Amino acid sequence: SETPAAGAEAAPRVSERFTRFDLQPGYQQLQMMRSSGERLGIDDPFFRVHESSGGATTVIDGRECINFASYNYLGLVHHPQVIRAGIEALERYGSSVSASRPVSGERPIHQALESAIAECYASEAALVFVSGHATNVSTIGYLLGPRDLILHDEYIHNSTLVGAQLSGARRMSFTHNDPQALEALLERHRGQFERVLIVIEGLYSMDGDAPALERFVALKQRYSSWLMVDEAHSFGVLGESGRGIGEMSGVATQDVDIWMGTLSKSLAGCGGYITGCRALVDTLRYFAPGFLYSVGMPAQVAAPSLAALQIMRAEPERVTRLHHISRYFAERARAKGWNTGDSIGAAIVPVIVGSSAKAARASARLLEAGINVQPILHPAVPEKSARLRFFFSCEHTEAQIDTTLEALDRVL
Ligand code: PMP
Repeated sequence: SETPAAGAEAAPRVSERFTRFDLQPGYQQLQMMRSSGERLGIDDPFFRVHESSGGATTVIDGRECINFASYNYLGLVHHPQVIRAGIEALERYGSSVSASRPVSGERPIHQALESAIAECYASEAALVFVSGHATNVSTIGYLLGPRDLILHDEYIHNSTLVGAQLSGARRMSFTHNDPQALEALLERHRGQFERVLIVIEGLYSMDGDAPALERFVALKQRYSSWLMVDEAHSFGVLGESGRGIGEMSGVATQDVDIWMGTLSKSLAGCGGYITGCRALVDTLRYFAPGFLYSVGMPAQVAAPSLAALQIMRAEPERVTRLHHISRYFAERARAKGWNTGDSIGAAIVPVIVGSSAKAARASARLLEAGINVQPILHPAVPEKSARLRFFFSCEHTEAQIDTTLEALDRVL
């Protein structure tokens, strides 16, 4: 009964390399990383379990630590109004909207959140997706096609790269924060493509530096292209009232074609948004696959972000405090001669230590001293620029920063 039927071809022999998961390149790479960690006596710095909400302080292994590893920039994750909004939405609408929004998942809270985002940007409309990553993948993947070109900063987030791959467009990167390098590409290639999309971020998460937005706007206008700005880290952080890089640089909302942001950082939730003109937002609402074919945002996720946005608007002093505390750290770190790269001192400040082993060891020793800061290792950054990356919250105190600087001094 085991013999093939007469006339059937024998199945081809296939190497185990193509069937066993433990022989796949990703797993092999993971094993290599683990064994070099063991050789250097460094514990895995990733997936540290936090037993609390993760703000200026957190609890790891039952111990309270000063925390520099969360994006809770405005300290709103545990704000009573934010929590209450989530509970009320959960009680009113249940735990899931159970369908995509076009089908039967639309709830009043979706429109309320989108109107508040659009109002904040003074734009015509906004749309929220269930994940920030999916927002970029779906928007870029849908809007661009094989006759189009995507030009992006070399440090752009993975979600833009995946969206670009999905779109089938040609993709080229330009030197980080360098409008001249972008212009060289536009000059050379603009004429050969239909749509051209330029993608930059408002604040870069590895370095805490920001682009000269007005120069990118001038280029997109000159070369008839679309400009998309990912405000994952700049919304709630840049500008006097936290309305992002547009506010900081005095660029009008309408001068950027596609504003993108996440709800997961300053807005204390989960999900992403696109805001811009109505034609853009309506198109995405009806056609972007990650919106159309995916469940609507749960009400208890939308409501806390709306509450967070309202608090941000009502209490701009949170943004002022975030700026103050980030600069307080950055200035003192520079005075000690540490390399903080090009950080503008707003919410994200790296301390570049020069090797992955040194960064991982420093992170482990700081944790022993009650300070949680994530190391950024090769290949996330070049080996020479491996770093400790500090994320600040408006809830950090000067005393916490002083303690951290002293510990860092000992460790480095
Ligand atoms: N864009 C940027 C620049 C990001 O840093 C991130 C995630 N950190 C995302 C998009 C994806 O957002 P989310 O984590 O909310 O899915």
